Amino acid sequence: MTSTRVRLTTVLVLAASAACSPDEGAHHRVEEQPIPAELPRIQSKKLDYLLHSSVERVPIRYLSLTGPRTIHQKILLLTATGDEPSYQAARDALDRIGMPYQAVTAVSQDVTDAMLTDGASTCNFSAVLFATSGLGFWDPAIAPAGAWTSALSPDEWSRIDAFEVACGAREAVWYAWPSPDLGLAFQSGFSSDESVDGLIADTSFFLRVPSGARIPYRHAAGYRASIVDPTVTRAIVRDASGGVLLAVNRTVDGREQLISTVDSNPYLAHSLALEYDMLRWLTRGIFVGEKRSYLAPQIDDIFLDNDMWVVGSGNTGSVQFRITGSDLDAFVSWQQGFRGRLPAGSSFIATMAFNGLGTLTSEYPDGSLLRAATRAGSKLTWLNHTWDHENMDAMTRAEARDEVARNCKKAKDLKLHGFSCFELVTPDMSGLTNLPAVQGMLDAGTRFVVSDTSITELLRPANPGTNPSFNVGRVSPTDARLYQIPRHPTSVFYDVREPATELDEYNHIYHDYYGRDLTYEEFVDKASEFGFYYLMQGDIDPLMFHQANLANYGGGHSLYGDFVEAVAKKFLALSKVPVLTLNQRGIGDEMKSRAQLNGCNASARIVESSTGGRSLVVSGSSACSIPVTGISAPTFGSVSVYGGEATTSFSMGTSGGSVTIPLP
Ligand SMILES: [Zn+2]
Repeated sequence: MTSTRVRLTTVLVLAASAACSPDEGAHHRVEEQPIPAELPRIQSKKLDYLLHSSVERVPIRYLSLTGPRTIHQKILLLTATGDEPSYQAARDALDRIGMPYQAVTAVSQDVTDAMLTDGASTCNFSAVLFATSGLGFWDPAIAPAGAWTSALSPDEWSRIDAFEVACGAREAVWYAWPSPDLGLAFQSGFSSDESVDGLIADTSFFLRVPSGARIPYRHAAGYRASIVDPTVTRAIVRDASGGVLLAVNRTVDGREQLISTVDSNPYLAHSLALEYDMLRWLTRGIFVGEKRSYLAPQIDDIFLDNDMWVVGSGNTGSVQFRITGSDLDAFVSWQQGFRGRLPAGSSFIATMAFNGLGTLTSEYPDGSLLRAATRAGSKLTWLNHTWDHENMDAMTRAEARDEVARNCKKAKDLKLHGFSCFELVTPDMSGLTNLPAVQGMLDAGTRFVVSDTSITELLRPANPGTNPSFNVGRVSPTDARLYQIPRHPTSVFYDVREPATELDEYNHIYHDYYGRDLTYEEFVDKASEFGFYYLMQGDIDPLMFHQANLANYGGGHSLYGDFVEAVAKKFLALSKVPVLTLNQRGIGDEMKSRAQLNGCNASARIVESSTGGRSLVVSGSSACSIPVTGISAPTFGSVSVYGGEATTSFSMGTSGGSVTIPLP
């Protein structure tokens, strides 16, 4: 160790799951918790049988809309109590995609005529989504001891049916008992303990799910159904024995229904895999919102060494490790191969958060890493992690400015690809609540900095590292010119370089949770669930890794590579859309845009003319960019294509406005 070298060491074993360690002597950081071992589990129950209509069979009333219609592109989301896991799954999908909807809790709110139409020519919704068939709930008021009954009255059922007919609104039932009024007959049921694989029966339904996919229905109860009349009902997904799990049905009065006979919740793979195409069908392929899959790994501490975990004794600071040029060469070579296996249109790339001090031969005589980094050229992108990784929690403005600016200059001298002085990862995500440090960062040109999603509101109420809402970051409460991009830790720890140490540390933390030690294969499976979940959600937050994770532990394999390969394998089995990596500024811009979109009352409506033409009117009440998927209108907005579908984003002025686009 030279006197100037910053030695990365740890003070908290449990902090190892999160940020890289603080330098010695600076212990101001908030104590972090390890990330959960697994995604949350939500109990899934079988549905009690109820007709998906009124038992009293109130005839469908005739609802007459006079003249050409105006149809608001908004979903009526019906839940009995708000507690159904399938309701949470549907609502979560709508929120993430950004589709306008109105949720109605039927036990406490009435579905009225005025809610649905103006009675003349305006449809207030374009589609109806039921959380469950029959919208059942346990009503304790029914004598003598309570009963399972529908939260909708006979009049409400009839009213919704009439609305669907008059407005041409499609209907989806997110979890249904396979009853004859949905065109299905009960075959058998399965519990949430059983594993059922779904096979695609109708490939034309899916834009995003590969035709050979095996949909993993896990931790969800459901029913295998058979089709009553194949001339009106068609299977979309079946299990291996032919039982129908997802179907489209046409009712006698011409209404169209999409029916899932399996439960769902926001964390389940089958929910996340199927949601997009299901909502796309429900909205007839044109909707406000978009869904893309992002993977943006950032690898911290490049060019520095750090203390390592030792099997049996933990991290005592006794062993240091820094990757070499040969590790980086192997990593770049692996990444090139990996990128070649991603869907066309993918832009996946690792971002290296580096510390310039580590490039000096006075600090590290081995110059091979710097040479390999230079050789990699545009095969890597680069990010500022400050000059020497000093904790910024107590730093002065001048010190902070120097830490950032000095590293900016080094990046420019080295011509590091993709580097921008706008972007920064502070050491241990420190300094974010220290005004002088933030001012120093801003002085040096920083505008986007990462925060740690494991720093919750409970841990740091004044400035948590979490997303205030999906895909939205945080304007720094310390200085509004700085924008914080929440970044996810993973259980690939900063102080491990091969499976043995990774596993020893993982089991040290999670043995009590599992009641046993996991194998490396089990660890990779568990750890990658989170990356897979973020990709399937369309989560835009970057992911955190560290330099030792890139070490070639044999055969060109690295802990980082094992994680990413496992995430991609799970993702590509269920999705054929591109995997995108945005740079930090790009992520920040998307997050700001999403925050504006959330606040501008974005809406769209289809307006029919008396001569038979149709147009789409997109409106917002304040400045925002409104994405509409399913149309390409370059004259009116900016068009991007993803997964074979066009999305046009329409800009609203400072005080809002609307854009009218003729439809074919
Ligand atoms: Zn670091």
